[in-house]
Amino acid sequence: MRLLMFRDDGAARLGILREDGVIDVASAGGADAPKDVLAVIDGGQEALHYLRTLVASTKGDAVRALDGLEIVAPLLPRENVMAVGRNYAKHAEESARMWNLDAVQPPTVFTKALTSVTGPFAPIPIDDTLTSMADWEAELAVVLGREGKNIPRESALDYVFGYTVINDVSARDLQQSWGGQNFKGKSLDGFGPLGPWVVTADEIPDPGKLRVRCRVNGVTKQDASTEEMIYPVDDIIARLSLGMTLLPGNVIATGTPDGVGRARKPPEFLHPGDVLETEVVEIGVMRNAIVAA
Ligand code: ZN
Repeated sequence: MRLLMFRDDGAARLGILREDGVIDVASAGGADAPKDVLAVIDGGQEALHYLRTLVASTKGDAVRALDGLEIVAPLLPRENVMAVGRNYAKHAEESARMWNLDAVQPPTVFTKALTSVTGPFAPIPIDDTLTSMADWEAELAVVLGREGKNIPRESALDYVFGYTVINDVSARDLQQSWGGQNFKGKSLDGFGPLGPWVVTADEIPDPGKLRVRCRVNGVTKQDASTEEMIYPVDDIIARLSLGMTLLPGNVIATGTPDGVGRARKPPEFLHPGDVLETEVVEIGVMRNAIVAA
């Protein structure tokens, strides 16, 4: 299933994408239908089964046309977005070049503030008094479905609720200042578009065979397979969970492939008027306009 959130009359509503449109779960289901994606995650297999019965049975007014719906982020993660940096070899190489490092650095982990999360079609504001180096990072995002600690790699994918798309938008100048850490430069408001929907894990048995793409004003800047990840999704979950509890509803950004703006010659950055498209082909595409803050 493809689960999404849309706004109607000021309230966010849970929807299920079907070929003929979006099932409005609150209209199609009973009073105890889950209200949002986090409620579905917490409801476990029972909630998924309930939604599948709605997919099979819903007709009429409870199906909305996708066109014209205001789709918002599918969930606000339970904690900061966890992220893996330098998880594709060619991006690790371009990172070493762009930061003038002698050696290619291994993958790293960091988080992105919850308040950076925004909708898949929301404008991304850039404050040019703060940054002149806003850059793109298209990534596969993993939504966790179960609590776990010291998760063995062999069973790590059992902890995945589903997959979505994130752009880990990064202010390179802030990332380099502030002591050279990632948090501030990747956490500005609106710098984490997420969506457009969560595809449940049963529909993506192998997250290592997905295509990640990024376009700016229609021009392809990134295009790679998740097969190229240094730490594949199961390995990321196993490593992150070492001695540290991961919660259902956490989101993990799995790293970006090569082709970011800062590493280009000459470097390229996002500016008001640009349109940023972030896609995982098997999941969906986000389209965010860049605007002046
Ligand atoms: Zn990233």
